[in-house]
Amino acid sequence: MILIDGKKAAAELRQELKHEVTGLKAKYNKVPGLTVILIGDLTPSQIYVRNKEKSANEVGLKSEVIKYPDSVEEKTVLEKIEQLNADETVSGILVQLPLPKHIDKQKVIETILPSKDVDGFHPMNVGNLSSGYESSVPCTPLGCYLLIKKVEPNLSGKKAVIVGRSNLNGKPMTQLLLKENCTVTITHSKTKDLKAECLEADIIVAAVGIPELVKGDWVKKDTIVIDVGINKTENGIVGDVAFDEVSKNAKALTPVPGGVGPMTIACLLKNTIECFKRLHK
Ligand code: NAD
Repeated sequence: MILIDGKKAAAELRQELKHEVTGLKAKYNKVPGLTVILIGDLTPSQIYVRNKEKSANEVGLKSEVIKYPDSVEEKTVLEKIEQLNADETVSGILVQLPLPKHIDKQKVIETILPSKDVDGFHPMNVGNLSSGYESSVPCTPLGCYLLIKKVEPNLSGKKAVIVGRSNLNGKPMTQLLLKENCTVTITHSKTKDLKAECLEADIIVAAVGIPELVKGDWVKKDTIVIDVGINKTENGIVGDVAFDEVSKNAKALTPVPGGVGPMTIACLLKNTIECFKRLHK
């Protein structure tokens, strides 16, 4: 079984991006800039943002974090986004989710210019991705896609089963694999026989949020299994895939932690650089 090392893949991607940033700096005399807006003091969000900032600095991006208290008015945030939209030194804008209840998430997402939407959540980017046009792609599914391609460069005709239909993970994952000519089944909480669906798959991507939902006897030999889940349990952090059981059958499997997680942040940096390049085309 191939243990898909997300940490290593992310380190390699960051190295490539670092070279790319050096080239862009030589060509344009400026570097891509990422601005993250962090609202409130939720510990996981603070950790994510700190890691994003650290990785951005590592590859040579200009990075900035703007912090607001929980009580900040929606209007203040929207005005700041407008200001960043107009700022030529800012290539990518990310508003760390979740947001306090009094702030309308969709309004925030739609205020970010699609060309600076490094999370790929703006409806324009969602539409472009599903139409097969150039777009920012949400970072986690993009990371999963790159890991799958490392194991199997030619995905044409493969049967992929996506478990979970969230806008963040399942749906964009479906679009990325359709583009590769996979036959994609998207499953969810109302799917009748999830085991039977998974047993058909050459590729399984599990993004559900239920600890160890995908069992060993749901996976046929030679399946590539990507585990997006991050679930806190009494036994520590586990994924949506029963790792020990599935590793006996799968051709390749991502661990949790150390699989998809590190690729998510590396893909945010990649998206920021792509936004910069599109802006300067
Ligand atoms: P979500 O709650 O938005 O969506 C979960 C999806 O799972 C829904 O579409 C639902 O229909 C489906 N589902 C629920 N119960 C099911 C069942 N019994 N069988 C089949 N499908 C079922 O979740 P999300 O935001 O996509 O996140 C999923 C998991 O991925 C979470 O554990 C989250 O923490 C993790 N996550 C990881 C990363 C990363 O970087 N590794 C990034 C984002 C999310």
